[in-house]
Amino acid sequence: MLIWRELGTMRSMIHTRRGFLAQTAGAMFGAQSPSILVHEHVLVNFARAKYDPDAVFAIVKPKLDAVVQLGCSRFQDCTPNFIGRDPKLLMRLTDACGIEIWTNTGLYAARNHEYLPPYAKEETAEQLSRRWVEEARKGIDGVKPRFIKIGVNRGPLADLDKKIVRAAVLCSRETGLTIVSHTGNGIAATEQLDIVLHEKGSPAKFVWVHADAEKDHAFHRKVAEAGAWVEFDHIGPAQQAIDWHLECLRVMEKNNLLGRTLISQDAGYYKPGEPNGGSFKDYTHLYTKFAPQLTPANQKTLLWENPRTAFGN
Ligand SMILES: [Zn+2]
Repeated sequence: MLIWRELGTMRSMIHTRRGFLAQTAGAMFGAQSPSILVHEHVLVNFARAKYDPDAVFAIVKPKLDAVVQLGCSRFQDCTPNFIGRDPKLLMRLTDACGIEIWTNTGLYAARNHEYLPPYAKEETAEQLSRRWVEEARKGIDGVKPRFIKIGVNRGPLADLDKKIVRAAVLCSRETGLTIVSHTGNGIAATEQLDIVLHEKGSPAKFVWVHADAEKDHAFHRKVAEAGAWVEFDHIGPAQQAIDWHLECLRVMEKNNLLGRTLISQDAGYYKPGEPNGGSFKDYTHLYTKFAPQLTPANQKTLLWENPRTAFGN
């Protein structure tokens, strides 16, 4: 644990001063490169409440500073449009914390379509895709989204969920961006995989988010064997969650599928409408409690190489 933490701190200190030295230090210690958190949140506004960006900034900045100290160099913010996506706030935090924060395009159909705008029901998959391609090309408030975030309900999927997935595949084909899909269960994951293949998308550009919610490892294996990514993303401080995520990784490793596996925490986040943004799940647990239980080689695979293969550099 100490080695991971100290190296992380040392790397990030060097990294923030000079990228070149960070590489040299990594080679010198035979250690991993800086790490990437693929699925976290700064802010989620399910309450649709008004919020003060300064208040969010004040609460989240020290939380991000803490993972920068542990070696995190990229934080992928998975909050979609209409649930609090705020690229301006993310860029302020990027500048203040010295960490890359990525935002997304797409729409969230989970929670029974409650957070879809009315146009999502009326427009075709092609029209929805066109909106997202525009965002990818022109940016949102001056920030280009780096992945497509969607959400679907539990399978069997409703037609509206299927349309959102189709739109994402069309957008991915045109922009090359990877699809990250909040998914209710294994059936919904395999249904989405079928849509990806049917629409001639690439399974390597599809991430099954919240795969840890599915208890049947046969689904994990099936999706990864097809070349898509399986993301176990509820690592937290509780021993039960740590044990379950370690079991998922063991199954993937035993089946030679660790190269199609992602891990993260789905942590944070400021909740507008609650006093001081409500309870906050810190971003550090993965580093302090979980990563030390992995081999250095697996740390590098899961926290550096796989995120870069799945999403780009
Ligand atoms: Zn999430």
